Amino acid sequence: MKIAIMGAGLSGLACALTLEKYGYQADIFERRAMVGDRFVVAEAMFSMFHTPYDDAVKYLSENHHIHLKPTTNIQKVNIYSENEHSFIDGHLGFTNMRGKHPESYEKQLAHQLKGTIHFNQDVSYKDISKEYTHVVLATGDALDTQKLQPFDVAFKASFKGAVVEGEFNQTEVHTFFNNDFAPKGMAYILPHSDREASLVLVYPQYPENESLDKDELWKMCFEECSRRLDQDFKILNEYSIKDYRIGKIETPRIGNTFFVGNCFGAITPVIGFGQFESMLTGIYAAHDIVGIGEYDKLVQPLSEGYHDSLTLRRNLEKLDNKKLDLLTKSMSNELMESFITSKKINAMKILSKILHPYPRKA
Ligand SMILES: Cc1cc2nc3c(=O)[nH]c(=O)nc-3n(C[C@H](O)[C@H](O)[C@H](O)COP(=O)(O)OP(=O)(O)OC[C@H]3O[C@@H](n4cnc5c(N)ncnc54)[C@H](O)[C@@H]3O)c2cc1C
Repeated sequence: MKIAIMGAGLSGLACALTLEKYGYQADIFERRAMVGDRFVVAEAMFSMFHTPYDDAVKYLSENHHIHLKPTTNIQKVNIYSENEHSFIDGHLGFTNMRGKHPESYEKQLAHQLKGTIHFNQDVSYKDISKEYTHVVLATGDALDTQKLQPFDVAFKASFKGAVVEGEFNQTEVHTFFNNDFAPKGMAYILPHSDREASLVLVYPQYPENESLDKDELWKMCFEECSRRLDQDFKILNEYSIKDYRIGKIETPRIGNTFFVGNCFGAITPVIGFGQFESMLTGIYAAHDIVGIGEYDKLVQPLSEGYHDSLTLRRNLEKLDNKKLDLLTKSMSNELMESFITSKKINAMKILSKILHPYPRKA
């Protein structure tokens, strides 16, 4: 058996580590010069989106021997709409670093690896598949999947982000739902430390959003976030991303080619998170390769979760600022808070069952 992994990101490295655990070595190809060779950004893993795994870090460590050290645990999520502010508190999840940061999750995974990564190798599937019996497509880009099979794009997302300097409580994150600057999307602040944070604005590139002035949206977002936190943020660096595809694959595995991470469609559409799901797909692909599981079956719960999440998103997208205010206000209700933070209830599944799905393509 000759295994190639295309991409040394979260899914590719989780796959390689799991293969090593069972005594198999893969050739890992990475197009960049080092692991995480991109902008620094804080990301999060919220327990409420990973039911039944209420602690994803503990689960990965105890069940898959993948050991991650998050930046901090999240104790409070602030929710801001145009005129309301509420919060949820409890053990809500973790923040972590990505990209060039020395503690980024991809760097932490690479440190646990015994084998080597072939850097500066922007490999093509066509060439790789000639040489290897098994190929794991882990390039983080659904466009690569679309070259090989249909990938149903629910929407393309536009990101604008910055590292900002200010004063932060590391255990608190801030989310903003306001159609004036985040049309059908959101903005959020995830602290890196008590002096630095990632400020991110993300919204779907629906036709009605494409005509909006992106710089103006970002300016409004920045001003509103600064005002709500009563701070005078200083921007340290900025980045933007367009056409980030969020959607679902048709076939998780074709022959001995495994589609993992974003190439699988690991992102949960409701808020666009996919780190935990990406690592799980990498682990599951390895389980299939070593003969202890069937990839198609193992990823089934992720596909179901995707549909629940998309249903919820489509319904949230219908809310104008007034309704977002009402929803934000209702979060202060203790019953609502315990429903959302319950480790036993899959809040997303229940909410999506109450609301009706209606599909929309990008
Ligand atoms: C701005 C932003 C914020 C996000 N925030 C969150 C968050 O807070 N929480 C969350 O859970 N998720 C978040 N996500 C999503 C999450 O980052 C992704 O779902 C996850 O990283 C996908 O993992 P992956 O392994 O598929 O891809 P990646 O981790 O991106 O890895 C892909 C790797 O493949 C390499 N590569 C690409 N093409 C080739 C090629 N042809 N040959 C060789 N190598 C190649 C790339 O250089 C890269 O190293 C965010 C995404 C973005 C863009």
